[in-house]
Amino acid sequence: MEPYLSFPGRRALVTGAGKGIGRAVAVALSRAGAQVTALSRTAADLESLARECPGITPLCVDLADWDATEAAVSAAGPFQLLVNNAGVAMLQPFLSVTRDALQRSFDVNLHAVLHVSQIVARQMIAQRVPGAIVNVSSQASKRPLRDHTVYCCTKSALDMLSQVMAMELGPHKIRVNTVNPTVVMTDMGRVNWSDPKKADAMISRIPLGEFAEVDDVVNSILFLLSDKSAMTTGTSLMVDGGFLVS
Ligand code: NAP
Repeated sequence: MEPYLSFPGRRALVTGAGKGIGRAVAVALSRAGAQVTALSRTAADLESLARECPGITPLCVDLADWDATEAAVSAAGPFQLLVNNAGVAMLQPFLSVTRDALQRSFDVNLHAVLHVSQIVARQMIAQRVPGAIVNVSSQASKRPLRDHTVYCCTKSALDMLSQVMAMELGPHKIRVNTVNPTVVMTDMGRVNWSDPKKADAMISRIPLGEFAEVDDVVNSILFLLSDKSAMTTGTSLMVDGGFLVS
């Protein structure tokens, strides 16, 4: 029987694919038949990914470097599928927010998404084929969270960017959506949510009573990339166990 989601021959770019959610998306897409380019910053992560999944093409670049990103992504395309997953979470109380945290977070979480999407969308339009873009946002885009001033703002801006992209790219048959997870215990999740008191307080606000697993997020991303969501664009798919309705 045909698998429910498959991407035979589709070319996919996944950013932040060295670790965590992005790595799992790259592996899942490759196993589902896509030709995956995995972009990340740490070469050792990409080497181990290429060993784990030999069909994947590694692309080592720091997305905070505008010019290096332009050169690398332009040369690697064209793609029909794009997952803007790379992100940083630099938590600071509002009164202690630094210029460095603001700059680095917006560079990676917002500016790089806009830039990579421009490059990839222009190539999609030139190919005259439908495309799908999924931006990895967060529940933090929709609710204020303590010490998350900068992160919440980057992800709110990312949701709005995604809606405008959906509006302007729709006529070119390019769909743009976000997935918005609750906490996931990746490296990023462990750094910020390992304190049991803090974790329990968050879990108590999630109706389903637990954090998300990496696969929960991967499944939603693959759905939004696939033709099964062919009429869905400009939306945010919450993977939050109901956090927003609590
Ligand atoms: P992670 O485990 O920290 O992995 C992030 C990946 O992105 C790493 O491979 C990292 O590479 C890469 N990356 C970061 N900055 C980069 C840059 N400037 N250039 C290229 N690659 C870069 O994070 P994750 O938990 O998988 O998070 C993935 C996405 O989900 C992020 O957008 C995050 O905001 C979002 N999210 C996460 C959670 C959570 O609780 N984990 C919840 C909601 C949303 P290096 O390690 O080499 O820097």
